Amino acid sequence: MPERTRVAVVGAGPAGLLLSHLLDRCGIESVVVDSRTREQIETTIRAGILEQGTVEILTGTGASQRVLSAGQKHEGIELRFAGEGHRIDFTDTVGRAVWLYPQHEVLKDLVAARLAAGQDLRFGVTATRVEDTETARPRVIGKDAEGNAVEIEADVVVGADGSRSVVREAVTGAYGGSFREYPFAWFGILCEAPPSSEELIYSNSPDGFALISQRSPDVQRMYVQCSPDTDPAAYTEEQLWEMLQARVPGTTLREGRIFQRDVLRFRSFVAHEMRRGRVVLVGDAAHTVPPTGAKGMNLAVADVVLLTQALRALLLDRDETLLDAFPETARQRIWKAQHFSWWMTSMLHLQPGASGFDRMRQMGELRTVVESRAGRTYLAEAYTGWPLPGGLPD
Ligand SMILES: Cc1cc2nc3c(=O)[nH]c(=O)nc-3n(C[C@H](O)[C@H](O)[C@H](O)COP(=O)(O)OP(=O)(O)OC[C@H]3O[C@@H](n4cnc5c(N)ncnc54)[C@H](O)[C@@H]3O)c2cc1C
Repeated sequence: MPERTRVAVVGAGPAGLLLSHLLDRCGIESVVVDSRTREQIETTIRAGILEQGTVEILTGTGASQRVLSAGQKHEGIELRFAGEGHRIDFTDTVGRAVWLYPQHEVLKDLVAARLAAGQDLRFGVTATRVEDTETARPRVIGKDAEGNAVEIEADVVVGADGSRSVVREAVTGAYGGSFREYPFAWFGILCEAPPSSEELIYSNSPDGFALISQRSPDVQRMYVQCSPDTDPAAYTEEQLWEMLQARVPGTTLREGRIFQRDVLRFRSFVAHEMRRGRVVLVGDAAHTVPPTGAKGMNLAVADVVLLTQALRALLLDRDETLLDAFPETARQRIWKAQHFSWWMTSMLHLQPGASGFDRMRQMGELRTVVESRAGRTYLAEAYTGWPLPGGLPD
């Protein structure tokens, strides 16, 4: 006999954990499964920038207060090109901000909060498929770490299982979406060093893009544009520092031991469907963006806020209207974020084979942004995040 719950959530990333937290606050029971161990979830380095709305959700619903004490509020970023830096001042243009607080710290906070609340949260459980999608009793089929069969029947199944989602197949088929692959990637490093700048520097240089970011007073995150097939072991530490330094003229980088390196390929994807029957997709399972606009985790949070309202109406008031509207409402923000992420990416990276005209046009575009208040305001508004739908329980 399958186990039974109201909402079965596949994936304990930001989307799945936050959803179970918000549902619990509405009095809706859920089971969350994740194929990874708790330690893996809490130590994988990924996103670092939280929009103001994301921070308000985390703090306002009791999911994390540490974001305010351990995170750093950033009130601007720098765009650097043609040898000059230009600050985009978020406070001055839109009166909002972002917080630098690593995704794995958000996950630590959410896991701790869920376990303290008695959440049924199962690590090491891998979903293999979803059945009975179009009935009122969809089922997650999978197995636990010992290979024992797991079967969970629910009123609603939510695929929060990331970009390689298995739930997606039940909703839209394996490749059912709009897709774009970019001809470059980021070579990312984590190093033991003090910060080289107080705010993020996004640099368009003749050698390619670089991003100077921070993680903590002792650990920094930096990226250089590279080819998507670059081997992470291809460069020595010395070569990496040389590449990074050449791409941010005007700043002397503070170097230190590089203890992690990875190559991050760029993809944009939006699933054609986000819901079939009682199965719904959220977060990276439904869409991915290139990291340049720092939108991935924040979009996952926005999906979840919207879906919580829809599930509360469905499961507590038997009103399906909001769930019917969910895909279209979510898609409006998703495509705005897709556009912003694509725009930042194309404006800041060196396109392979770019002509002299292409490069000068890019400089013209960057000048249009930094020299006009309207341009700076658009960037600041999108980067700090459009308003989230209200109406969540306090
Ligand atoms: C290097 C890097 C930098 C980034 N920087 C930023 C940034 O600055 N700002 C930002 O907003 N976003 C950023 N992102 C994107 C962000 O990390 C993702 O958008 C975010 O993690 C999406 O959350 P999610 O919960 O939808 O999916 P995920 O975080 O991918 O979580 C999915 C979970 O599902 C589990 N799972 C998968 N398959 C199964 C299965 N079959 N059964 C059970 N469990 C399963 C996985 O183990 C995982 O824990 C970055 C990403 C990377 C890789």
